[in-house]
Amino acid sequence: MRNQPRILIVEDEPAIAELMAVNLRHNGFQPVWASDAVTAQKELDEVLPDVILLDWMLPGESGLSLARRWRGNPRTKQVPILMITARGDEPDRVAGLDAGADDYIVKPFSPRELLARIRAVLRRRAPEQAGGAVSIGQLSLDADTYRVSWQEQPLKVGPTEFKLLQFFMRHPERVHSRGSLLDKVWGDHVYIEERTVDVHVKRLREALGDAGKMIETVRGAGYRLTASPAA
Ligand code: CA
Repeated sequence: MRNQPRILIVEDEPAIAELMAVNLRHNGFQPVWASDAVTAQKELDEVLPDVILLDWMLPGESGLSLARRWRGNPRTKQVPILMITARGDEPDRVAGLDAGADDYIVKPFSPRELLARIRAVLRRRAPEQAGGAVSIGQLSLDADTYRVSWQEQPLKVGPTEFKLLQFFMRHPERVHSRGSLLDKVWGDHVYIEERTVDVHVKRLREALGDAGKMIETVRGAGYRLTASPAA
């Protein structure tokens, strides 16, 4: 089991949306489809996706206007937007990027190109979603195989704890406040209380056994993962 990045597809043509969704699903992503601006907004209000694929020409509010709106909203401004359009000329490209899109892809595109663009925006915006392995001291985590090990012995870590550990390991030796962990790990702290972080940190320490002491509580500030724990 992996943490599958959630991809919101905002596209009014069902055939194209379906093609994208099938490809994304086959490649370890979790696609969600919205066929118009209203549905897309409703979806965003409920769950923040990791990436938005945004069609330019939509019935009602255009993709360009949506991109501008989401960029202007503190809750959605960090979500990467990949604009999708049939028009590929220069003024449109500039308008899309001006509206806050992270990248731009022109129809028709190959599934391979779409995946490459999605991975690229994920890497830029949220390195912890992009996969790959990381080691701190004798603690290792591989996001592609979903494995955690300590002194080369495999450890069992739950999905949320895995995400949390991944974030700690990609940003070691730094203190992270509960609020910032909610933002970066849960992606959307609107409906989650800060003490949830404490619960998952506790579970993570338990799952890590001897390596649990690498996750230090910094009084009044938050948590830190360190290669050289104090005790
Ligand atoms: Ca369209």
